[in-house]
Amino acid sequence: MKILWPFILASIAGLSTMLGCLGIFIPVKKKDEFITFSISLSLAVMIMVSVFDLIPSSLPRLNSGILGNTLWFILFFGTGVVLVRVFNKLIEKEKGSSNLYKLGILSFIALVLHNLPEGILTFLSTYQDFNLGVSLCIAITLHNIPEGISIAVPIYYSTGSIKKALKCTFLSALAEPLGALLAYLVFKNFITDGMISLFLILVAGIMITLSIEKMLPEAISYNKKRALIWGLIIGIIVVTISLLI
Ligand SMILES: [Zn+2]
Repeated sequence: MKILWPFILASIAGLSTMLGCLGIFIPVKKKDEFITFSISLSLAVMIMVSVFDLIPSSLPRLNSGILGNTLWFILFFGTGVVLVRVFNKLIEKEKGSSNLYKLGILSFIALVLHNLPEGILTFLSTYQDFNLGVSLCIAITLHNIPEGISIAVPIYYSTGSIKKALKCTFLSALAEPLGALLAYLVFKNFITDGMISLFLILVAGIMITLSIEKMLPEAISYNKKRALIWGLIIGIIVVTISLLI
């Protein structure tokens, strides 16, 4: 069955997001340090993945010349930036919830949108070339773990609910096999590389804006410089390894 492996690999890559939930079961003595570390780790991963993977791999596939590519980029990246502000306005209305909780929900929305095209991409790549699919799956698994942390840790530490943290992370993980299923059922016949690329640029806009405007100020607010720096360093190492694969 030609579609079995593409679907299995997309599911493994997506469900690896759940490994990020292990972060909430680690007994921590220094809670503020741990939250700071988790947020700065995931923001480093989101920025690195966007700048060194999503954008450079998407731009050439737009095939519209320098001017055309730039215009497409501005349009879709800009839409990503605007979307973060819209989502933020929407959850701002939820009274009484802390910044940390809102951050968890924003990460959740961003990662559902991120995992969907990632699932489509994993499916289509494996469909064309099994080996390419396997290395893509390993690379995605590596960065999806800290992405899972960016949902699970803020939601758990702001609500105290393990169930809610697990649920949100699981839903975002599910977006990846869902993307694969969509790729098979709907997109396979008419989706183009260019269309996936535009969506990935939009996702990069969302992840970079979320990281700089929301995650970074939240991570800084705990005033734990060492934890912040270690999170950034480990995030950079994780993405570098996944890019080398
Ligand atoms: Zn991912």
